[in-house]
Amino acid sequence: MPHLPPIRNALTIDVEDYFQVSAFAPHIRRSEWDTRECRIERNMDRILALLEERSICATFFTLGWIAERYPTLVRRIVAGGHELASHGYGHERVSDLSPEAFFQDIHHAKTLLQDIAGVVVQGYRAPSFSIEPGNGWALDTLARAGYSYSSSIYPVAHDHYGTPDAPRFAHQIRAGLMEIPPTTVRLFQRNFPASGGGYFRFFPYALSRWMLRRVHEQDQSPAVFYFHPWEIDAEQPRVPGIGFKTHFRHYVNVDRMEQRLRRLLQDFHWGRMDHIFLPATAQEATDV
Ligand SMILES: [Zn+2]
Repeated sequence: MPHLPPIRNALTIDVEDYFQVSAFAPHIRRSEWDTRECRIERNMDRILALLEERSICATFFTLGWIAERYPTLVRRIVAGGHELASHGYGHERVSDLSPEAFFQDIHHAKTLLQDIAGVVVQGYRAPSFSIEPGNGWALDTLARAGYSYSSSIYPVAHDHYGTPDAPRFAHQIRAGLMEIPPTTVRLFQRNFPASGGGYFRFFPYALSRWMLRRVHEQDQSPAVFYFHPWEIDAEQPRVPGIGFKTHFRHYVNVDRMEQRLRRLLQDFHWGRMDHIFLPATAQEATDV
C-alpha cells in the first residue's frame, strides 16, 4: 500500500466561560454574568501554552461578550498564529432568535472581533449547534453578514441539538458559505458523535482515538474536534441546583481533561479550520 501523508484534523475551541453554557441558562440569568467569577483568562493561558509547546495552530470560536471584556486575550489568539472566529455575541441559541435579532448578534460579534484583532473573521459556530431544520434561514443570514463558513450543524440525535440526517462532511450549503460539521462516525446506519465535548470526557480516550482513526480510514476525511476552556478547569465554581444530568454532563472528568487533550494532540496532526477546509484564495484575505 502506498504511504499516504497523515491527515490533519481541525482543532477548535469555543471561547466562553462556565456560567455561559446553554444548560445553565435556566439557573444563571444573563444579567448575572457580570457578577460571576470569570475564569476564561487563566484557562486560556493554559490552552495557549499547551498549543505553543507543540507548535499547533487552532481555531477559536470566540464569544463577543468575552472579546469585549478581554480584548488582550483576542489579540493573543491572533498573535499565536491561530484563527479567530465567531461564536456570536451573547451565546443565544439561534432557535431562540428572530432572523433580525440573529443578524444583529452575528454582525455585532464579527465587527467587534475584527476591530479588536485587525483580521477578517470568516467562521461562525452557533451556540449549542442550534442551526437546525426549522431555522435554515440562519444560513442565508450568515452569508449576508459576510461569513465564509459555519460549523453549526451537528449530524447526530441529541436531546439539546442535532440534525441526524444532515451531511457528515464539509459542503457548500449556500452561495459563498460552507458548512463544516463536527465529526461523526457512521455505525449501524447511525451517526455517533466523535468530535469532543462531554463525550470526549465521558468515554475512555481509546474510544475517541479509534473513532477519529476510523474517520480517516473509512471516509478519508479530516476530523473537526472541539472543546471549551472550562472543560479543563477542575476548580471552577460549582453551580448549585442544576439537576443530576446537567451536573454529570458538565463536570464529568474535567480533572482528567488536560491529560487526555495532551494525548490527543500527540496522537494526531492538527491545524486551523480555514487552513484545512477553505480554498487557498480565501485564506489569503486575512487582514481587515
Ligand atoms: Zn458555546
